[in-house]
Amino acid sequence: MAKVESFELDHTKVKAPYVRLITVEEGPKGDKISNFDLRLVQPNENAIPTGGLHTIEHLLASLLRDRLDGVIDCSPFGCRTGFHLITWGEHSSTDVARALRDSLKEIRDEIKWEDVPGTTIKTCGNYRDHSLFTAKEWCNDILKQGISDDPFARHVVKD
Ligand SMILES: [Zn+2]
Repeated sequence: MAKVESFELDHTKVKAPYVRLITVEEGPKGDKISNFDLRLVQPNENAIPTGGLHTIEHLLASLLRDRLDGVIDCSPFGCRTGFHLITWGEHSSTDVARALRDSLKEIRDEIKWEDVPGTTIKTCGNYRDHSLFTAKEWCNDILKQGISDDPFARHVVKD
């Protein structure tokens, strides 16, 4: 089986919430794609319930694109502790951490149910499983701890 970097990471050594650059991959014509680990809660200690995670996913799809160039995809981990973020080109973990922090702040402070995209039977694969209340509560917990741009030491981004 192919070796996957994410399964080589020692999940007992990380200190969430953090942003970690996993890889930068280069295509045959030199185009670069970056893959980030957006870890919102501490592995094996916490997991965001699916309704809240699902609502955060739908919102981050837009809110991260508002703040970062070249976003291709942002999808939740099966363990429900965070998201993969895939982008064109390269970004610093600090810039991604700031974009994530500001997006979570917008969810906590400004987003109303009518703002959540894709909450109907036509626009979502499991439209019954959304919770903006849960999303806001977890965003608040994550923001209280701050987002670090270093996965192994608490180095919370400011400004
Ligand atoms: Zn959905």
